[in-house]
Amino acid sequence: MTAGPITLPELAALPVSKLRGVGPRKLDGLGKLGITNVFELLTHYPRRYIDRTQQAEVAGLVPGEEALVLGGVSGVSSRRIRGGRSMVVAELKDRSGTLRCTFFNQHWRERQLSDVAAAGHDVAVHGKVEVFSGRRQMTNPVVDLVGDRTGRIVAVYPLSEKAGLTTWDLAEWVAQTLRRAEPRGLADPVPTWVLDRFELCGRSEAFEGIHRPGSMGQMVRARQRLVMDELLRLQLALVHRKVELERSQRGIVHVVSDADDGEPGGGRGLVGRFLDSLAFPLTTAQRRTISEIDGDLSSAAPMHRLLQGDVGAGKTVVAVASMLRAVQGGHQGALMAPTEVLAEQHAASVREMLDGLTVPEDGSLLGERPVKVALLTGRIRAAERRELLEGLAHGTVDLVIGTHALIQEGVDFASLGVVVVDEQHRFGVEQRAALRLSDRDGRSPDVLVMTATPIPRTAAMTVYGDLDVSVLDELPPGRTPISTSWVADGDGLEATWEQVREEVGRGRRVYVVCPLVEDSDKVEVAAAESTAEDLRHGALAGLEVGLLHGRMPSEEKQAAMASFRGGSTQVLVATTVIEVGVDVPEATMMVVLDADRFGIAQLHQLRGRVGRGQVASRCVLVTDGEPSPDGVARIEALVASTDGFELAEVDLDLRGEGTVLGERQKGRNDLKLASLRRDRDWVARAREVAIELVGDGTGLARHPALVEELELVLSDEDRDF
Ligand code: ADP
Ligand code: MG
Repeated sequence: MTAGPITLPELAALPVSKLRGVGPRKLDGLGKLGITNVFELLTHYPRRYIDRTQQAEVAGLVPGEEALVLGGVSGVSSRRIRGGRSMVVAELKDRSGTLRCTFFNQHWRERQLSDVAAAGHDVAVHGKVEVFSGRRQMTNPVVDLVGDRTGRIVAVYPLSEKAGLTTWDLAEWVAQTLRRAEPRGLADPVPTWVLDRFELCGRSEAFEGIHRPGSMGQMVRARQRLVMDELLRLQLALVHRKVELERSQRGIVHVVSDADDGEPGGGRGLVGRFLDSLAFPLTTAQRRTISEIDGDLSSAAPMHRLLQGDVGAGKTVVAVASMLRAVQGGHQGALMAPTEVLAEQHAASVREMLDGLTVPEDGSLLGERPVKVALLTGRIRAAERRELLEGLAHGTVDLVIGTHALIQEGVDFASLGVVVVDEQHRFGVEQRAALRLSDRDGRSPDVLVMTATPIPRTAAMTVYGDLDVSVLDELPPGRTPISTSWVADGDGLEATWEQVREEVGRGRRVYVVCPLVEDSDKVEVAAAESTAEDLRHGALAGLEVGLLHGRMPSEEKQAAMASFRGGSTQVLVATTVIEVGVDVPEATMMVVLDADRFGIAQLHQLRGRVGRGQVASRCVLVTDGEPSPDGVARIEALVASTDGFELAEVDLDLRGEGTVLGERQKGRNDLKLASLRRDRDWVARAREVAIELVGDGTGLARHPALVEELELVLSDEDRDF
């Protein structure tokens, strides 16, 4: 029997205990790094590389420049200095001289470097060269233990202290694996046309090049290939899931023409009349989005579309137009909101928008009746609820608005045509159920998901890769942009409170936002309460200061919001509970306390609560003490831009993809190298290839080896294909 090239599943079936040099203690250490098999070992990628072609000699170091130096360690000492800080000093010696390395607040370095000195191992230090008492030195350089490894490029692996392994342990095991794999080579299930199109190297070369590169150029090429592998696997799973759903579901073919809804005289259809009745023309982005949705609605496959649009971009009109397409053809629409309060708000605004619109009356030749909008929440009384459910089952209710309970309770619809899920934030696992709905006849409704948290395009391809995406990237005209400023506590808060008084004096209202205290509602509530108290008796004495926080019973919350909306509360001190959906046009100013403790997206959402009327609004971001560099960067971004998509890009740059991907992706274990930020272009390329490979849904069956890899690496949820 001749064995073919080695597949990834084969590697995954080989325990690391089979490697030479892995005894029980090392095995335990590997386990702590999450490495139990050889595949996991090979995908435990280097964190950094020491490029010895860039290596300098101590004698030749130039003060003020960054340099990499290798050498042995001696003379390690440690002492306490002012302010309880520790200082560790060590000498690094190469054949040309010695360099003093000083570490502040890294007391563990003493032990580490003493061990290195005792073992006679080399270390590499990288940092800026300084001169101190006439001698060259580095302060807090990056230190990598080299051991006695040679070679032009030395890989440094991510390790945890608990593992008790060295970077050269890992390098040796990886080398051993690659050496043993060499005769057979690694299987490469990615079709050659893909590799050719993007000039990617083969698998064997890639694993060799990422772990044991001969040059940094080779490492970069290797990385590119492995990044593509990761992104392609993810996109294959997502695109496959999308295509499969489309193939397996049967939807309603909606009539989307505006001219004909069977009305006598060929008058405007329901959607046309709705749009005509609006007090404003649609934005170009709204028009484009509605026509994208119409395209989906008129096709036989059910729509699975995400509508991304910043706060105030006008998503509601688009949602209502989509649902009315269903109503126009005698079907029903459902709008699901994340909370009951939001469901109530939506119901109120949709009813107002549809005021005066009629549909043909059932069983009557010329009769017309108003479009019937119902609100279904946990709060309505049993009798009313029964009547409503009956109306839904008989088709006398046209549009229903409620929370996700709407679908979870399996409410019976006469003919549910379009479902809109207003997510505000993230479209989670639970809400994905909407994509799998079907009615008594096995037909699935068209589903539109709306989110007000813009995320960069390539991130959207990953997070929402099983959906089509429309973007409302244009705000309706005539908005006065919100001006945002940063006030450091201590030098100007008086002026801020003075501005608050001025706003209130003009009959307007102001939010004061206190941060969410993680893991402690108690502290958070206390902070909000004491802030309100302080303002009432201090800076804002004489004004009506209200309070709103998440711990209040819902009637109290309602009452607090109502008096703010009505104007009897002039200043509302609130925690982030106001982040979602609250709409008070008279609110023209927001003061955010400890603003550096909020994320970019959160601040952007919060800020969207003002600037909802005609009047110019302002947002003051207050910081206390010295914010972290990231905190400063976030605040500066908010001051500089009101564009949610632009801010989302900054957020991705600052925080990396983990936070952008959010909850749903926590279990995602295959993006080890790829970065949605660094590798944005490759996300799009991987999607393009995935679409070509999956084709009409039968495509993946032609690539069984790729499917095996998907099964190996994708988390349970992504593996759902
Ligand atoms: P979103 O849900 O995207 O945050 P909304 O749908 O609540 O935004 O719309 C915000 C406000 O803008 C509403 O008062 C709405 O009536 C108004 N609006 C929507 N579209 C337009 C438009 N094309 N021109 C002017 N105003 C608009
Ligand atoms: Mg909205």
